[in-house]
Amino acid sequence: MFVGLTLDTAGVQVVIILPVCRRMEGHMEYNVAQMLQEPMGSVRQSQVQETSVTLDEVEVNRLEGWLKFTRTDIGIWVKGRLKAEVSAQCSRCLKGFDSPLNTEINEEFYSAVEVKAGTALAESVMEEEAFKISPTNVLDIREVFRQNIVSRMPMKPLCKQDCAGICPDCGVDRNEAECHCDVRTVDPRWERLLDLLPSTDKES
Ligand SMILES: [Zn+2]
Ligand SMILES: [Zn+2]
Repeated sequence: MFVGLTLDTAGVQVVIILPVCRRMEGHMEYNVAQMLQEPMGSVRQSQVQETSVTLDEVEVNRLEGWLKFTRTDIGIWVKGRLKAEVSAQCSRCLKGFDSPLNTEINEEFYSAVEVKAGTALAESVMEEEAFKISPTNVLDIREVFRQNIVSRMPMKPLCKQDCAGICPDCGVDRNEAECHCDVRTVDPRWERLLDLLPSTDKES
């Protein structure tokens, strides 16, 4: 355990841009080898700017924000705020569009080295779901970010709030053209209310 380790309260926290090991564009990986040598409470901050990142099924564009790394007793705590545009498909007209999304990252990554040292604390928190720093000291933010995005994405994304959708009869995109299969060209949000009206009103 780290009972003897206390924060140097007199010390000045210096924020330095973290040495980043991005092997290629779109890989949100950070080399934290040096940071893991530092005492608890050390802080680094890093700007995030990516044109495009693919996270399994999620495609993220124009990613911007910052991440703050804080050394803890068993690893590194990552906090941050990220703004991005996520590729989505409209649930009404089926067109692809970029949906703006803001996410917050707040997650502790456990150090594999710390765990190898075999502290009881480290072992108890090293569950399967826990995020880990790789044995080569690379902290990969992608999975945390992906889970965050998936949980924030709407179940039925809309390209615009009043998207008219596709005609179920002729397949015309009602945002672009009018079709004459159905006189009831209503905002889909009102459809359920109209069903409650007598049928003569529906056709007007
Ligand atoms: Zn749409
Ligand atoms: Zn139609």
